[in-house]
Amino acid sequence: MDTTISALRGRRVWDSRGRPTVEVDVHLANGAMGRGVAPAGASRGSREAIDLRDGGDAFGGYGVGRALDNIGRLIAPLLVGRDASDQVGIDRAMIEADGTPQKARLGGNATIATSLAVLDAAAAAAELPLWRYLAISASGAESPSLPLPQIQIFGGGAHAGRRIDIQDLMVIPVGASCFADAAQMVAEVYIAAGRLMAARGHLSGVADEGGYWPSFASNDEALSTLVAAIAEAGFTPGREVAIALDIAASEFGRGGRYRMTLDDRDLDTQQMIDVVIGWLRAYPIVSIEDPLAEDDAEGWIELMRAVDGLERPVQVVGDDLLVTNARLVGAAAERGQCSAVLIKPNQAGTITETKAALDEARRHGMGTIVSARSGETEDVAIAHLAVGWNAGQLKVGSFARSERMAKWNEVLRIEEAMQGEARFSGAAALFSRTGP
Ligand code: PGA
Ligand code: ZN
Repeated sequence: MDTTISALRGRRVWDSRGRPTVEVDVHLANGAMGRGVAPAGASRGSREAIDLRDGGDAFGGYGVGRALDNIGRLIAPLLVGRDASDQVGIDRAMIEADGTPQKARLGGNATIATSLAVLDAAAAAAELPLWRYLAISASGAESPSLPLPQIQIFGGGAHAGRRIDIQDLMVIPVGASCFADAAQMVAEVYIAAGRLMAARGHLSGVADEGGYWPSFASNDEALSTLVAAIAEAGFTPGREVAIALDIAASEFGRGGRYRMTLDDRDLDTQQMIDVVIGWLRAYPIVSIEDPLAEDDAEGWIELMRAVDGLERPVQVVGDDLLVTNARLVGAAAERGQCSAVLIKPNQAGTITETKAALDEARRHGMGTIVSARSGETEDVAIAHLAVGWNAGQLKVGSFARSERMAKWNEVLRIEEAMQGEARFSGAAALFSRTGP
């Protein structure tokens, strides 16, 4: 079967925020075709792959003309004639042609859309769904699994005009027995949260990822409302449905100082750790992401020590701290800065580097959470990555808006297709790999 790339084409499409983004189609000599789309973050780590934009007046500066020009002029000539089933070779060719640490020349949006399209084409050529193609082609792979979801109920931070400091107030259905059950439980919580917001006169639409707009007077009011919504939906908070937070602290912390706007407090690292530990004691939280800023290396070690001293386990997740970079993941594991890693393909810029970060996390006994971005499209590849790579957990935003629901619905379809083979990660995904 001839899986040689015969044509590669980029085009401008539009993401969930109505901004331009990059889509790539890859055609193979045997007639197979694949497609990839670049998502876009709003709260980005400073070391992630560069999202190349045009600047200027058009589309608020978010134009992707330069990225598309790079695809046509540099990437297509480089990849046409190569074998699409050699993902590592293709990604390496782009990394070498780029030659910068953060894909500043080609643009991480151009490279990730291309890398995903090549992968999709290779799976199509093999006549396999992407999740199964990944599970078969990953060397030494464990069997694929359905991920435990982290699903946003309230959206804050950079996704809601900084209305509250905490970015994602999410739930994890720890009592679910399969993915379909997990989705059903979260649907009840999302509806209950909307009912509570309406009853209090707080309902004012949704934030960027579909979570309710956080019309709260304090971060604590947001947290207690989330606990109330879980109970209102008929679940025992902590036992059936628990809480996960993405504090995204790099958005309001730098140089060991944290500005909590909503609570009107200026904190140093130790005080910020005390706030986080206070929340962990007061609420049924099982996972916290970016509790400190990406430049607060020592603070993360201190925070992990404090978390280890709690009477129940809590997953500590590095996102902006690690930016899906295998080298940073390995260093964080050795320093004891966190126990799990967020895996975002466009932070790395290629599928090969994304998988390397996931493998490095696994090597160190850390949990892995495949994640979407706040700017998304109808592309569902990350649902397949989470299953095929046996990541254990998946985070794609809330339980509303079709760029989010497309991913959750795709996992449901995969679960059905797996039939007797289906294995749900469940709550074990949170802690089974925790800590070295
Ligand atoms: P982003 O947010 O896509 O805007 O970076 C998601 C996250 O921080 O996890
Ligand atoms: Zn994050």
